[in-house]
Order: sequence, then C-alpha cells, then structure tokens
Amino acid sequence: MARKLYTGPKVDVSFDLEVCQHAAKCVHGFPEVFNTKARPWINAEYANTDELADKLRAVVATCPSGALRIEEHLT
Ligand code: SF4
Repeated sequence: MARKLYTGPKVDVSFDLEVCQHAAKCVHGFPEVFNTKARPWINAEYANTDELADKLRAVVATCPSGALRIEEHLT
C-alpha cells in the first residue's frame, strides 16, 4: 500500500500501514492527532501552532517502525 499523506497547517504527516508495528506510541503520545476511531485517523490539522507542531514532530519521532514521517512544508 502506498504511503498516505495527511496535510496540516504547519507540517504534514505521512503514514505507511504496511510498515506500522501497531506499537501505539502515536495514539498515546498525541491522541488529539492520532485517533484510530476517527476518519481520517490522523488529524494533522490539530497541530496549528508552532508548539503543537513541535509536539507532533516529537511524537512522530517516537514511532519505532518508521511508518510515520513528518513532511515539512517547503515554504
Ligand atoms: S507509533 Fe508508529 S508503529 Fe506505532 S502505531 Fe503509530 S504509526 Fe504504527
């Protein structure tokens, strides 16, 4: 399955389900963004301040599999 992109106002997040190890670091680390009961399950829109974007970067960095990636905006 292809990597999917979830766009947000500060940073985007991409996710590859085939790589995910379901360790749930993401849903425990930032439940306002990562909620497996919501559709889409990644709400990058929530991270709409520099502080929240930094938190999102930090939580994505805890993903052990590399399934999650921060996609920085180029501008
Ligand atoms: S932290 Fe990474 S490996 Fe764990 S559930 Fe989230 S996306 Fe999957």
